[in-house]
Amino acid sequence: NGAPSPPHVAMLVTPGMGHLIPLAELAKLLASRHGATATLVTFASTASATQRAFLASLPPAVSSLALPPVDLSDLPRGAAIETLMSEECARSVPALTDILLRLRRTTRLVAFVADLFGADSFDAARAAGVARRYLFFPTNLHVLTLILHLPELDVSVPGEFRDLAEPLRLPGCVPIPGPDVLMPLQDKSNPSYKWMVHHGAKYREADAILVNSFDAVEPGPAKILRQPAPGRPAVFPIGPLIQADRGSSDGPCPCIEWLDRQPDRSVIFVSFGSGGALPTEQMRELALGLELSGQRFLWVVRSPSDEGAVNDNYYDAESKKDPFAYLPEGFVERTKDVGLVVPSWAPQIRVLAHRATGGFLTHCGWNSVLESLVYGVPMVAWPLYAEQRQNAVMLSEGVGAAIRVPESKGREKIAAAVREVMEGEGKGAAVRAKVAELQKAAAEGLREGGAAATALAEVVGTWTCGEN
Ligand code: UDP
Repeated sequence: NGAPSPPHVAMLVTPGMGHLIPLAELAKLLASRHGATATLVTFASTASATQRAFLASLPPAVSSLALPPVDLSDLPRGAAIETLMSEECARSVPALTDILLRLRRTTRLVAFVADLFGADSFDAARAAGVARRYLFFPTNLHVLTLILHLPELDVSVPGEFRDLAEPLRLPGCVPIPGPDVLMPLQDKSNPSYKWMVHHGAKYREADAILVNSFDAVEPGPAKILRQPAPGRPAVFPIGPLIQADRGSSDGPCPCIEWLDRQPDRSVIFVSFGSGGALPTEQMRELALGLELSGQRFLWVVRSPSDEGAVNDNYYDAESKKDPFAYLPEGFVERTKDVGLVVPSWAPQIRVLAHRATGGFLTHCGWNSVLESLVYGVPMVAWPLYAEQRQNAVMLSEGVGAAIRVPESKGREKIAAAVREVMEGEGKGAAVRAKVAELQKAAAEGLREGGAAATALAEVVGTWTCGEN
């Protein structure tokens, strides 16, 4: 007899550390604040060393198991990442159903959570009789608004988004110029477009949508989505959830030792996420722009990619070729007193948390944006793919937490944007002040009784009524 077993939550994680990390944080929060346990269900395709090490470091309340591999060999070569993830999810429904049935027998399974490309897994949750289905949306309310409107936009926007004469206006959102609209929507003949429209409809089957964002960074859509609307699940902004403990990465690290020797807020950190790579020419202009800016910099360099912004290390962040070979001649030597260039990977959160970091030139991946805001670091936006261009618009044109590098990406423009964010007295000062304000708002929301904590507690509160 004794105490009832803890509520258990199963979560399906689509590939990419950018999906795994925030979902794992959610699981940890459910465990620490609400006494729940969780199972993270992963795809066989993402069994990378990075991911395995990460899963192994989770607390005992959070376990993980991998789905069996599914055959994707019939998909065309070069299929978009969104298509691969969506297909892998759809084809995993039978195996996932078995896993959920098993979890129902062995735990008090109260809820199932899918992430942005995993909505088809709701079918498995329904078949297994799991009482509640949630969507965890790891990016922001702007992108969520767009995806929820896709089934109607599919009808009302006949051509390509990039050809729209006017920016796309959605309820509460910063208007998004056509070319900046979510990348997988930019070519309607690509199966990834159909998949996104499909997800937009499928999201409506969720009992609630939990979003890794917070009101202050996007007040417009927050105001709208916080209101109940018929036919749309309730939306709960529960962020910013970023990786809280830095675990084994806390050892000595050349980047941190270098930062320790720099003055307060003097360094711009330059990084394009776990998979971003620049075209060769832009990488060169960036190097020369950083040099021209006269600012101190810490740059995570990756070998360039001229075929597209995501390089082949998306699933495992190791740069295959020597990225230093692509830097302008003499660059490292000329900048050695003010800059540090590190290959492939840096402990980003530790860097952003460091007192010497004063700016972040970022690809605007949503996790990077949230980490920057949590540590109060103003941003220079240099978006690459996925929803990053939209994020750049909302950050620079909307809330004012970033300055965007102009599309031409010339060295002077890069230097000017970097200088402005680091020490500019007009726009730069406004961006720095806004980011300080957002940092405060983010921390307040996560505190007991704050908006994010209350939103999550409200979701958990429904678990006690009507057990499955
Ligand atoms: N990251 C890191 N070091 C790096 C590059 C990335 O620690 O050199 C982490 C970063 O802190 C963030 C995640 O990887 O948590 C990247 O997620 P984001 O959503 O920003 O971009 P994505 O990698 O999905 O494009």
